[in-house]
Amino acid sequence: MPRPTRTPFDIKNAVAAKKREMIEMRRDFHRNPETGFKEKRTAGIVADKLKALGLKVNEGIAGTGVTGLLQAGATRKTLLIRADMDALALTEENKTDYASQNDGAMHACGHDGHTAMLLTVADILTGHKETLKGNIKFLFQPAEEGPGGAKPMLDEGVLEKPRVNAALVMHVCTDIPVGMIATAPGPRLASMDQIAITIKGKGGHGAMPHQTVDSIVVAGKVVDTIQTIVSREVDPMKPVVVTIGTISGGTAFNIICHTVEMKGTVRCLDAKVRLDMPKRLKRIIAGVTSSMRAKFKLDYIFNYPVLVNDETMNAFVSQAATETIGAKNILATAPAMGSEDMAFFMEQVPGCYFAVGARNEKKGFVNPHHNPRFDFDEDAMSVGAEVMLRSVLKYLG
Ligand SMILES: [Zn+2]
Ligand SMILES: [Zn+2]
Repeated sequence: MPRPTRTPFDIKNAVAAKKREMIEMRRDFHRNPETGFKEKRTAGIVADKLKALGLKVNEGIAGTGVTGLLQAGATRKTLLIRADMDALALTEENKTDYASQNDGAMHACGHDGHTAMLLTVADILTGHKETLKGNIKFLFQPAEEGPGGAKPMLDEGVLEKPRVNAALVMHVCTDIPVGMIATAPGPRLASMDQIAITIKGKGGHGAMPHQTVDSIVVAGKVVDTIQTIVSREVDPMKPVVVTIGTISGGTAFNIICHTVEMKGTVRCLDAKVRLDMPKRLKRIIAGVTSSMRAKFKLDYIFNYPVLVNDETMNAFVSQAATETIGAKNILATAPAMGSEDMAFFMEQVPGCYFAVGARNEKKGFVNPHHNPRFDFDEDAMSVGAEVMLRSVLKYLG
């Protein structure tokens, strides 16, 4: 392990001293999960803790969002650090003593841990604010799992007053062993858009297809043919996913269906490729439907952008992680086609998103995110908090 750069206080010890409290906070959030835009209790606790630290707190942003501003020193730069607070609409199957007490809601993605880690980081940095050459805006957002809390918070001006210059965020991950961090520069997570396609044919008797335009047969061709965007049109080195997730049409076995409705999602890792997707879809759907005498409507809704790690911000995090866990425990994993609404902030300012390993086979923390048995190794929170603290000091120290 390279010799750590000198830090103004003993970061490892500072985290160790808060570990118990951090775990208790996480377990309290875990017992009391709240889904998107309903994070009232969670946001209340967050705001109270930030106020107790003496930070300048704004509540009720985009409903349940909270920010806490730590103003420090002769200020030029402001760094934003974000945690998401929302749980998923899922019934927990774990039997731990901190299992969810709200039926139909569960922290199955680790956002309970994110909130506890960021509160701990806020606590420690407030205690050492004389070491910071700049402000920190701690941002706690609702509804990351959908419909998305980052964009409405952005629209309410969270990147202003003071103007934010850079952003950091971490996400626990049970695909990666505890004690490891994954980060790399460039695109890390895909854009996430929604599509709705309506195919209009001409209904009629199931025995007399010649009098009709069968929208189900047309829809089948459409589902098939739009995949050629991925396989035949876009550069194979620029990943794209087109998924039709729902399809509905028809009322009876002996009636040829008039209208079919489909919903789906489009994911891209390249912003330019993404911008071309509506045109490509429209051209293909228009060609297929007109060749089969049907009509169509396509609604393309741009949602979360591509999440791109800035080179310099990533270098701060990589260095911080090296000092925390050693270079051999840093993974430059490939980008993934999942998405994150943190991308809205990182479209505006340079930032870094890193994954904190939270898998532990021995302790049984092996289940994937969004699974009713999801849980993670809480030791990951100490690693995450330490990497975050070191990254902050590199940026603002
Ligand atoms: Zn999730
Ligand atoms: Zn998540």
